[in-house]
Amino acid sequence: MRCAICGQMRVYSARWPIGHVCATCYHRGRSTPRPCASCSKIRVLVGHPDAPANDELLVPTICGPCSGSYRYSYVCLRCGGGEEPYKNLLCVRCALGDQLRTAFGDAPPGSPIETLTTALRGSRRPRSVMKWLTNPRGGARVLGELLDRGTPISHEALDTYDEREVWSLRRTLVELEILPEREDPLARLDVIVEKITADLAPSPRSIVRAYASWWYLRRARRRYEESGRFTYPQFRSAWQRIAAVRALLKWLESNAVPLGALDQPTLDAWLEQATHTQRAATGDFLRWAVRRSLVERLTVTYPERTEPTILLSEERRWAELRRCLTDTSIPDDVRAAGALLLLYGIPLQRIIELTRDHLVIEAGSDIVTAFRTTTGAPAVTVPPRLGRILTRLPAPIPSGGAPLIDARANAPSWLFPGRGTAGHVTFTGLQARLRTHSLSVRQSRNAALIGLAADLPASVICDLFGLSVAAAVNWTRRAARDWTGYMHLVDERVRPSVSTVRRPNGR
Ligand SMILES: [Zn+2]
Ligand SMILES: [Zn+2]
Ligand SMILES: [Zn+2]
Repeated sequence: MRCAICGQMRVYSARWPIGHVCATCYHRGRSTPRPCASCSKIRVLVGHPDAPANDELLVPTICGPCSGSYRYSYVCLRCGGGEEPYKNLLCVRCALGDQLRTAFGDAPPGSPIETLTTALRGSRRPRSVMKWLTNPRGGARVLGELLDRGTPISHEALDTYDEREVWSLRRTLVELEILPEREDPLARLDVIVEKITADLAPSPRSIVRAYASWWYLRRARRRYEESGRFTYPQFRSAWQRIAAVRALLKWLESNAVPLGALDQPTLDAWLEQATHTQRAATGDFLRWAVRRSLVERLTVTYPERTEPTILLSEERRWAELRRCLTDTSIPDDVRAAGALLLLYGIPLQRIIELTRDHLVIEAGSDIVTAFRTTTGAPAVTVPPRLGRILTRLPAPIPSGGAPLIDARANAPSWLFPGRGTAGHVTFTGLQARLRTHSLSVRQSRNAALIGLAADLPASVICDLFGLSVAAAVNWTRRAARDWTGYMHLVDERVRPSVSTVRRPNGR
């Protein structure tokens, strides 16, 4: 059967008033109720006022009853609303309400749990909340456990759990004003240090704590004060570094070597079996320890990564880009993120923070023609293919994907939603999704920046893509050094030209 909405020849899932529809269009339609063009109620749209002429494809604009079909009215038996149908003639929101009540009981009005469950019930993505509820490791489990024990919800209560498990729950509770914003977001690093060093002997423990608070925390604090943000990747990197130093001291302890007696052969033996992170952390830690005369001067040898690795040739870059723009078997969010990386080299951290407000939509249509990395920045024109992919974002959450617990009613409309710290997908989450489709973030970005830097002056690059001036200048230099010759050989037709950049008047 030919699907009346997408036109593909497929087995049909339902015979809506608009015609036979395939499984994809059926599920997409059911899960995205919108205002009916005739009665204005939010409903699953299944019909169109006009009959299709010849082979024309139609997008459904009116609901079941308005197209004369009560069979496909998709109205919830309990609340009478037109939300996505779930089970037993109940809408997904009513079903979620039941599940929240099962998980957390009947919360007294005005209690923190009531505030939270109300917000969760109103979430833009009820199915994600359902998934979150059944996640064996995560905020819902922690919350249930605190309730069972009768422990009031507080920052300190959450501190008793693995920070990676409660990170996003804590953010949500703060956003809902159930918990106060911690005055110092770095305070949780102190808690981590306490936990990580708990099993060390008193002397090495005090060394790790001194190192962490005087050196590492200070570094994290400076970055926090510069950027005003403390992101999950930053937290994780600090956590890994401190854990690595703890591992070194634990290893010394088990070999009965006090830190003061550490010599080069012993250090080399440690480095021999250490991970890359541990080696890097060891070097950092020993520099600090030498200054405090805790240890004699030693040499840490490990491969330093100074120059960015470009293992992606221009040819590969364009092949990957073509794949992102044309391969419909890849999910839309991966295609969009991949194309933004490969075409413009935008940092992944910035890609995950993009919202619908960053998109420039052509008047009179809903097709995306350009985007901005920050509001007020010049708009960057996108190729029509990428525009169409961006138009379809946010994509429906992949099954098994990270659930969402962002619960603010006026939350930004993320292009890449997820369980993330702020309602968007996490850095590592999107990176992993790109990797499953064989796209490397670092390589793609580097290749894109090298390509761009060869074409555009540094000041334009930093304006458009949110790089610091220093970073942009660096890339331009590298491009001049390594690529100028090579770029002449690249087919002129496939290179991004300066004309893809549109600057507003007067700038
Ligand atoms: Zn279809
Ligand atoms: Zn209607
Ligand atoms: Zn309902």
